Amino acid sequence: MEKKGLLYEGKAKKLYLTEDETLLVQEFKDDATAFNGAKKGVISGKGEYNCSISTILFEYLESYHISTHFVRRLSPTEMLVSRMEIIQLEAVIRNIATGSLVKRLPFQEGDVLEYPIFELYLKNDELGDPLVNEYHALALQLACPDEIRAMFRLTSKINAILRSYFERRGLMLVDFKLEFGREQGELVAADEISPDTCRIWDRKTHKKLDKDRFRFDMGGVDKAYQEVLERLSNA
Ligand code: UDP
Repeated sequence: MEKKGLLYEGKAKKLYLTEDETLLVQEFKDDATAFNGAKKGVISGKGEYNCSISTILFEYLESYHISTHFVRRLSPTEMLVSRMEIIQLEAVIRNIATGSLVKRLPFQEGDVLEYPIFELYLKNDELGDPLVNEYHALALQLACPDEIRAMFRLTSKINAILRSYFERRGLMLVDFKLEFGREQGELVAADEISPDTCRIWDRKTHKKLDKDRFRFDMGGVDKAYQEVLERLSNA
């Protein structure tokens, strides 16, 4: 599938038009940003690791009949995806307390959450992606009640499927972010699922194997992404 014009360039990915108006090429970059773009850097090999990891996870979800925008891998850093309207909300689900949760609420870092916590954030860089609830999302006309319920249901299902996949490979899926698109009245998991958008810890040592290594200058960022890919590739 040949790439036509650049449709959109984000912080970590580019989207290109193709000759088929229903399909886009999603290209993963080595560029990394954190803290709403305040910290910038390059993680060598990240584009390829994230493209590989997202491919594995989207294909795995498809095997459970979860609809994703993934069509097929095109190259080490590119995948063909379905073009869709993206809902301007980020769905986050948390299994272990860390990150913004422990800053905002009286949880201790590493607390195992009895019930996973589902959150919505507004996709809005200018406002720093604020936390919103379903009433904000409805009032902002970002999604209808059925869609918000479907986002919650799908995110919970994806969490259950991926958690055990990670566990079987010695990894903890601490929390992650999903984005959803609309396709023929159905919600479809879009964007990426990678160590840029998930927190992943080693099950035994709790070593961080995700973008927190970049956020907090912990070193070994590329090695951590490579290790996640190697472990997730194990049958
Ligand atoms: N996350 C993301 N993009 C965002 C914000 C969060 O992919 O714009 C992911 C993040 O990697 C983590 C989860 O969502 O896996 C929860 O993030 P948290 O709210 O703790 O955000 P922080 O402010 O610590 O990035």
